Amino acid sequence: CDIPNEIGALIVSFNEMARKLREGEKLKQEYEENRKTLIANISHDIKTPITAIQGHVEALLEGVPDSPERAEKYLKTIHRNTIYINKLIDDLFLFSQLDLGKLALHRQTLSIRPFMQDLMEEFKFELEERQCAFTFNDRLAQEHHVSIDGKRINQAVRNIIGNAVKYGPERDLAITVELYQEGDFICLSIQDNGPGIPSEKLAFVFDRFYRIDRARTKDLGSTGLGLAIAKELIEAHGGAISLSSKENEGARFIIALPVERSDHEANPDH
Ligand code: ADP
Repeated sequence: CDIPNEIGALIVSFNEMARKLREGEKLKQEYEENRKTLIANISHDIKTPITAIQGHVEALLEGVPDSPERAEKYLKTIHRNTIYINKLIDDLFLFSQLDLGKLALHRQTLSIRPFMQDLMEEFKFELEERQCAFTFNDRLAQEHHVSIDGKRINQAVRNIIGNAVKYGPERDLAITVELYQEGDFICLSIQDNGPGIPSEKLAFVFDRFYRIDRARTKDLGSTGLGLAIAKELIEAHGGAISLSSKENEGARFIIALPVERSDHEANPDH
């Protein structure tokens, strides 16, 4: 008769429900853990520079620095810390908009070559001021169109090039950028000759607030959000970002953006 079968089916579905409930509970716990870590990170990152500012202002008010030169040093520390807080708030705001899917992209269909050439001119100028050897190789065999928010792509590339400068050597920094096509994607590879990233840490550098060396990066205005933002921005365009690096052998980031298919390509039968 069918009854044992029905009971069997019921047990299976109850077990399945119990499993889903347990999974839901686990997800809720993970979410809660994530939220707590996030708040702890933000509080810590804001509190550190504010404490420094407070200490230096109090010292100035009490007349601790005994010469104008020493007072100027205190003011410079205060200034540096306010710049850092400003950047942190900007990064946090942008990241949370991206995280919530609330950032509106103002996409336009653009020819990729002139867009990248203009962008690279901008970086070339800035980097040469820093005595950095900057090379841009355009290896595209033909012109393509991409549908992008130019300002946001600029920002993602800026975060990556900015890191090459921040973590790279003081002297003889070299950055090489290449533009090429791979299948349906336009790729931009950004290679530096800096300290690189140890292989066991590669998986984490795109995580929010992840910094390889918290102490060392503190003075560099590092928020640990730069790569997380770059990744979200590129993914919001339907693209992807990847990294290959070995310790002491520099880092290579690749941004891939989907080629915009022309009507003819998309519907070859018409
Ligand atoms: P940050 O604000 O700390 O620069 P990012 O998310 O941009 O945050 O980078 C995360 C971490 O990855 C950095 O703290 C740094 O340790 C490491 N990193 C990023 N780019 C490079 C690079 N080009 N060379 C070496 N280390 C890098």
